Amino acid sequence: MEQTTIAAIATAPGESGIGIVRMSGPESLATLQRVFRTTRGREKKSFAARHLYLGYVVDEKEQMLDQVLVTYMPGPNSYTGEDVVEINSHGGALITREILALLLRLGVRLAEPGEFTQRAFLNGKLDLMQAEAVIDLIQAKSKTALEQAGRLLRGELSERVLAIREQIMGLLATAAASIDFPEHDIPEITSRRMLEGLEEAIHQVELLLSTSFAGRVLREGLQVAIVGRPNVGKSSLLNALVGKERAIVTDIAGTTRDVIEEYFSVAGIPIRLLDTAGLRETEDPVERIGVSLAQQTMQEADLVLVVIDQSRPLEREDLTTLAAVKEQRRFVVLNKRDLPLGLSAADEERLAQERVFRVAAISGEGLDELRAAIADLVLQGILQPDSPFVANVRQEQLLREALGSLRAAEQTVASGWPLDMVQIDLQAAADRLGEMVGLKASPGLAQEIFSRFCIGK
Ligand code: GDP
Repeated sequence: MEQTTIAAIATAPGESGIGIVRMSGPESLATLQRVFRTTRGREKKSFAARHLYLGYVVDEKEQMLDQVLVTYMPGPNSYTGEDVVEINSHGGALITREILALLLRLGVRLAEPGEFTQRAFLNGKLDLMQAEAVIDLIQAKSKTALEQAGRLLRGELSERVLAIREQIMGLLATAAASIDFPEHDIPEITSRRMLEGLEEAIHQVELLLSTSFAGRVLREGLQVAIVGRPNVGKSSLLNALVGKERAIVTDIAGTTRDVIEEYFSVAGIPIRLLDTAGLRETEDPVERIGVSLAQQTMQEADLVLVVIDQSRPLEREDLTTLAAVKEQRRFVVLNKRDLPLGLSAADEERLAQERVFRVAAISGEGLDELRAAIADLVLQGILQPDSPFVANVRQEQLLREALGSLRAAEQTVASGWPLDMVQIDLQAAADRLGEMVGLKASPGLAQEIFSRFCIGK
């Protein structure tokens, strides 16, 4: 268990109404007693738990630093599970820094990023998924993401994961007990129950996994790549969607060489728009870099907008682009609808299978329909039943591994092998789920997760 007492400024840097310096550890109370004076300038020995006290912070020479409100939260009923003291001072980076410096001179150590939450984790106040939810709360880009992180913080996902793990442990017990049966004498019914139990666990894990798309959309927003050959109006479309001049719009083919990134939001979900150089064949090395970036961006996108200039017949490059995104969620945007139609009947035929939007990026015509369709996609992704989402790649990966082990076990039982042979797979599945909530987290992992916090959290 940690023995040092740590401190940090818990509020964001810069000017603010109040600033909070937080301390956690065994010396918190003693340190508070040394620096706190009542409004009458007296020392104060006893602090009732979770009461607010008005007074002053004084330095070693009894010089007043600021008027403050302090709270003492004795462990284990505190955020970290240790004795915690919070000193609310007047805002301003300087005052909080001076108070912090005073505490450090008195032997308190500066907290590492995330160390408060790490201690909370080590003291069993939070599990790993809840700790990750704290990061999400701090970094949340949207209101829905905030609510979701709140849900995670309350431990709803942890409960689900632990329930599945419990169920697997039950199956494991059955499998272990089956060793006691003489060979060939495993009751049929045990085998069938095992299979049913495995199917149920697999179903539950799959359900959780199916929420990971939503989780990612909430966390990072929906990634939308805009592709198409030069001059069809990709940059104009990007500008029209985000509503400001950002991408360079020109008449020279191939000007947008970098991937340009912009955000707009739908239902509080950030939509990350990526305008690419298009997929043209080119000899120009700079442009070639752009093309390969475009390819990568396109493949990673949740949605691809294939922009086509409808005032001209389809070109080979339009068709290559369409073919390249065949496997992806995509909308075809027929741009420049203000100009006379240049697509041939055969071209229209080719596009018949696609979800088509006819727009004029230049005037904004038709964009509302496109925006609405993107919004639908987002909502479809996230408005699942009121269930917690798998929040990040680490959790998703562990779930996939657990699923793999469960499927292997299912295969073993279905092929009629002795039940005790599924023990290793079941144990592996249970371990992966345990790791999700941090039951078996390696110190390195916890370190890695907590280092993503900002100082003071
Ligand atoms: P990109 O190379 O695909 O990014 O295309 P740009 O956005 O740079 O546009 C190429 C040219 O098409 C510019 O001259 C735009 O003004 C023009 N353009 C873009 N959208 C429209 C539109 O809806 N109607 C018309 N008439 N011209 C457009």
